[in-house]
Amino acid sequence: MKEDKRFYTFVFAPTAKSQLRKINIPHNILFAILGFAAVGFLTVAYGAYRLAQHAVVVAKLNILQNENRVLREQNQEAESKKDLLLSRLAALDTTQRQLAQASGISRSDDINKNIGQGGPDEEANLSDIERVTVALENELRKIKDVFDKNQVKLASTPSGWPVRGYITDGFGMRRNPFGGGGVESHGGLDIATNHGTAIEATADGIVIFAGMYGGYGNVVVIDHGYGVTTRYGHMSRIDVAVGQHVTRSKVIGAVGSTGRSTAPHCHYEVRLHDRPVNPLSYLSVGRS
Ligand SMILES: [Zn+2]
Repeated sequence: MKEDKRFYTFVFAPTAKSQLRKINIPHNILFAILGFAAVGFLTVAYGAYRLAQHAVVVAKLNILQNENRVLREQNQEAESKKDLLLSRLAALDTTQRQLAQASGISRSDDINKNIGQGGPDEEANLSDIERVTVALENELRKIKDVFDKNQVKLASTPSGWPVRGYITDGFGMRRNPFGGGGVESHGGLDIATNHGTAIEATADGIVIFAGMYGGYGNVVVIDHGYGVTTRYGHMSRIDVAVGQHVTRSKVIGAVGSTGRSTAPHCHYEVRLHDRPVNPLSYLSVGRS
C-alpha cells in the first residue's frame, strides 16, 4: 500500500507585522484530527440533548406527582364526605321511617331496596346516594301531605273551652230549669260566668249563623268542616257575621242571658252531622 505523502500547508501571521509562518500538516493526520473533533462534538451534542430530555422528564414527573398528590387528597376528602353523607342519609331514613309509621303511610318498596341492604361489601356510589335522596324526598312529600291534612283537621276540631267558668248543666237529660217537674234533653254544656265575658271560637271555621234563634237567644253557629259545627248561645253581644272565617280563640261575642236562660252563661254545643254530641269530650282535645 502506497504511503500518503501529501501535506496541507497552513500559512498564517500571529500579528499584522510579524513574518508569515508556515505549518505543514500531513494529509492523514489532519483528517484524523478533524475526525476526532467531529466525534467529540457529536458526543457532547448528544450528551447535552439527553441531559435536556432528562430535565424535561423530571420536570413533567414533578408536575404529575404534584397533581397526583392533590388528586389523592381530593379523593380522600370526597370519600370522607361520601361517608358522612351516607350516615346522614341513614339518619334521615330512620326519621322518615318513624314519621311514615306515625302518619300511617306504608313505605314504597323502592326505598327499602336502596337503603340498609347493600351491606359493607358493596361500595355505595354517587348515583346510589342520588337515588336514595330522591326516594327520601318523595316519601317526605307524602308525609307532609298527610301532616298538612291533619293540621287542617286538628285546627278544625273543637278544642278547649269557649269561655272559662262553672259547668252548671251537663249534656243529656236534665230537670227542666224553668220548673214544672219535667225532664228535657240538654244538647250542650252550660258554662256560667260573668255577664260580658268574651266567648272564643273553639276551632277554625266559618260562621254560618249569627243572630237571635228561639231559646238560644243570640247565638253564633260555626261550621268547622268534617261534619262538625259548634253553637254558642245566650250571648249578650255578637262580634262576628255570617260568612266570616274565624280561627281558634277568636272572640266571637260575649256572655249574656238572652233567650231561654235564667242567668248569664254560655250554652256551648258541639254537633256531629247536626246531631248534638257531648262537648266534654272536646274540651281537652289537643290540650295538655
Ligand atoms: Zn244550655
